[in-house]
Amino acid sequence: MRYAEHITELVGGTPLVRLTSVTQGLSATVLAKVEYLNPGGSVKDRIALRMIEAAEASGELRPGGVIVEPTSGNTGVGLALVAQRRGYRCIFVCPDKVSQDKIDVLRAYGAEVVVTPTAVAPEHPDSYYSVSDRLMRETPGAWKPDQYSNPNGPASHYATTGPEIWADTDGLVTHFVAGAGTGGTISGAGRYLKEASADRAADGGGVVRVIGADPAGSVYSGGDGRPYLVEGVGEDFWPTAYDPAVPDEVVPVTDAESFEMTRRLAREEGLLVGGSSGMAVVAALQVARRLQEEDPAAAARAVVVVVLPDGGRGYLSKIFNDHWMRSYGFLHDDAHAVVGDVLR
Ligand code: PMP
Repeated sequence: MRYAEHITELVGGTPLVRLTSVTQGLSATVLAKVEYLNPGGSVKDRIALRMIEAAEASGELRPGGVIVEPTSGNTGVGLALVAQRRGYRCIFVCPDKVSQDKIDVLRAYGAEVVVTPTAVAPEHPDSYYSVSDRLMRETPGAWKPDQYSNPNGPASHYATTGPEIWADTDGLVTHFVAGAGTGGTISGAGRYLKEASADRAADGGGVVRVIGADPAGSVYSGGDGRPYLVEGVGEDFWPTAYDPAVPDEVVPVTDAESFEMTRRLAREEGLLVGGSSGMAVVAALQVARRLQEEDPAAAARAVVVVVLPDGGRGYLSKIFNDHWMRSYGFLHDDAHAVVGDVLR
């Protein structure tokens, strides 16, 4: 019999899938790493597992401990999944602007969620910051993973995501494209791929080129932190999990471009993914197109790997909803409308 002892054993080892429709006209091979196939539905399962294992090893997290983290999304799911198996309580703090669906998912996995009002000043006792600090102080055995500064985030990608891509492409990957939220994926996997390809001759593709995809407005691509709608990526500060020495360039992508591509991936490639995946694919195709214009021979040999961080089910009422898209002016023509003529 072949089975896993527990679902958390199935974290990582995600497949590469070739993009064949959105890449029409491009000679490069573009491969998507499908992270929604992780047990918790996102790339974040990888960091959750490693952060918890490291905290156990260092003694910061002891039996019966409590994981306290301000998170509303994918990291919370990963932490809740691993915590449940190992007998830790999870308390997540979310601002009240987070959708009820996301809170319900965390609770379904057995986590406790404390919802704080958005409309109060940071120093107010009910604010997001005050409540997290108080929970840390007052909860015996509390441990805060702090994904933005925890070195085990990038370390998990250096140990798993990077080697998986290298092995699955037989060492032929030439470009690596990923969005950055905490920066863990691009810094860890990007660094591994650069080191693995360091000795490769130029005709074998040279050192892997690492390209960041970033919401226009975020600091990583030179913005001032102005708001954007794509979720999970971009920042208005520089987290220590992000190593600015790894990306060779960072490409800004608008919300409109990200969401249009996200819808095309579902409709044309059978990949129902989130907005940060669409964003990363826009950047990957830009890279492939530019290479084809500048050096057609290199483009024909290029193997571009792009990370798709999560699935699209959490965005059905946004990116995949025509009314929501129109309300932000994203759906200019009906070429990619989800709702048919009869229903409209
Ligand atoms: N996309 C989504 C949907 C995410 O939740 C995250 C994690 N914040 C990312 C991309 C970026 O990953 P990282 O934190 O490793 O930069």
